[in-house]
Amino acid sequence: MNVAKQLYQLQEVDLKLESNEQALHQIASQLGESQAVIRAQAELKLEHQRLEELKREQHSAEWEIDDLVTKLASAEEKLYGGSIRNPKELTNLQHEIDGMKTKRDQLEDKALEIMDQVELTEASVASLTSQLNQLEAEWHRQQQQLSSRMEQLKTIMSDLEHKRQLLLAKIDPQAVEFYHELKKQKKTAVAKVEQGICLGCRISLPTTELQQTRSGNLVQCSSCGRILFLA
Ligand SMILES: [Zn+2]
Repeated sequence: MNVAKQLYQLQEVDLKLESNEQALHQIASQLGESQAVIRAQAELKLEHQRLEELKREQHSAEWEIDDLVTKLASAEEKLYGGSIRNPKELTNLQHEIDGMKTKRDQLEDKALEIMDQVELTEASVASLTSQLNQLEAEWHRQQQQLSSRMEQLKTIMSDLEHKRQLLLAKIDPQAVEFYHELKKQKKTAVAKVEQGICLGCRISLPTTELQQTRSGNLVQCSSCGRILFLA
């Protein structure tokens, strides 16, 4: 096998290794926490806190109503019990009772409003919880896919690495060194020749260069400097 062909094979393995390396990096950057999940968790936590706060308000309003209802009952008992006969005192008590009733009605309205808000917030907590569950399930699935893709890539890369070692063992070390130097400069060190054209720079090769390439010698393109490989 001529050196140009061997180097071309080496280059093919190297290019595959590089693209797999890139894919691996990309996957590594996607592994880990999900910002969407973190945001959804924070949102749910806030809504939970709101719900707790509303429930506390609801209980305190109910407690206030109970207290007022008890006071109202004892005031009415006093009013109709016949123990008070003084008209002025009776009128005052009646006023007091009226005031308590107004306050009770206001508190009951407030309690109903809070109850509505509790219901709305409970619905919102339920919907945020289901959204979070979906996001977490999706994230989990994605992470699993990424992990298994990562394992695949690692296997492919270790196979390529092995293939690379086998190739290197067969190629003249000086040629390999030259290949690496060219690769540093031009990214691709070996260019295929098709229909007399160097595919590295798309320029037609002089006949002598073509002939030398055909003979299996290590020839560089006079235009771009790449090693020419005639398939
Ligand atoms: Zn060229």
